[in-house]
Amino acid sequence: MTSLLPDPAAPVIVREVGLRDGLQAIARTMPTANKLDWLRGLHAAGLREIEVGSFVPARLLPQLADTAELVAAAKALPGLTTSVLVPNLKGAQAALDSGADAMLLPLSASHAHSLANLRRTPDEVVAEIGRMRALRDASGSRCLLEVGMSTAFGCTIQGAVEPDEVLRLLQAALDAGADRVGLADTVGYADPLQVRRLFERAFARVGDRLGCGHFHDTRGLGLANVFAAWEAGVRRFDACLGGLGGCPHAPGASGNVSTEDVAYLFASMGAPTGLDLEALLALRMRLAGWLDGEPLHGSIARAGLPKTMRMAA
Ligand code: ZN
Repeated sequence: MTSLLPDPAAPVIVREVGLRDGLQAIARTMPTANKLDWLRGLHAAGLREIEVGSFVPARLLPQLADTAELVAAAKALPGLTTSVLVPNLKGAQAALDSGADAMLLPLSASHAHSLANLRRTPDEVVAEIGRMRALRDASGSRCLLEVGMSTAFGCTIQGAVEPDEVLRLLQAALDAGADRVGLADTVGYADPLQVRRLFERAFARVGDRLGCGHFHDTRGLGLANVFAAWEAGVRRFDACLGGLGGCPHAPGASGNVSTEDVAYLFASMGAPTGLDLEALLALRMRLAGWLDGEPLHGSIARAGLPKTMRMAA
């Protein structure tokens, strides 16, 4: 029997989303100066894709009100792709004005989640993608329009989410003008087999315009799901330093897969990420200081790097 494992030497991109996904889950507002240190520390540790904030109204998310300032600082860092989350057309305009390299629009595969969070059906959000694409093209900007399919593996409100509906919406998002799409396990419901199957079907449907896996470790399967998506062909993953992004309504629940653990996973298998693990762990200690009292998650920070590890870079 021939091995079905992917080529471990193929590079993997880790996109840090802690400055957005992590901080929006925390009630306190991190001072901009700390965010700038975090941003520059990530870049120094080898991160070349960073989501720095969200253009949502400041009254809804005061934690992210300094997003334009962060984009400006990120643009000064060489070789960095700066992305921002945008909830709607107004956010897209702000993203274009800021000069961000990519804007990410969440599209809920769960109708119930979409209505609860955005007060719009998924297909109404798809229509907004068309308007965002027209706005981007008219502006002459080369800002990438990425759609993140949230609740693609299940939903706390609706329960099961049908894979056929996820695939239909992926196709609809691309047809409406998205440059690329990704799948997100927003609430930590996915299991590795489900991840592998859905990504395989999604690749068969939309090809290499499927560009990202976003996993939460809510129930301890985060890294297993990253590995399953990698087996299916995903080479780009979102992660948060210190595993930030836990649900504020579930104390103790871990959040996004942690950047340092994802970096360790790929380094241990010999897959190049360009990330400096020692630098990431040092930065995580500084983050713990900036967020004093906030629980951080992840294993490698507790146990340390093994002596046997082949350091991939
Ligand atoms: Zn997340």
